[in-house]
Amino acid sequence: AHVVTAPCFECKYTDCVVVCPVECFYEGEQMLYIHPDECIDCEACVPECPVEAIFHEDNVPADYKEFIALNAEKAPHL
Ligand code: SF4
Repeated sequence: AHVVTAPCFECKYTDCVVVCPVECFYEGEQMLYIHPDECIDCEACVPECPVEAIFHEDNVPADYKEFIALNAEKAPHL
């Protein structure tokens, strides 16, 4: 799955959300999150993010590793 990281804090762009074919972005209080079970790794959102906050879970920079768990935690659970 793909993961939204720190540069997304307080970012008000939703360019990523509109291109996602499976609508797996969810808006939190401070940033967006991707539901890890819904993301199909199409990568459409990656070049659209104006702050380069989105990474594949295997390529998340070391400083942002905690965002993998945070996306999973903050995405809605049924
Ligand atoms: Fe949506 Fe594709 Fe981005 Fe996953 S990689 S969040 S499916 S646009």
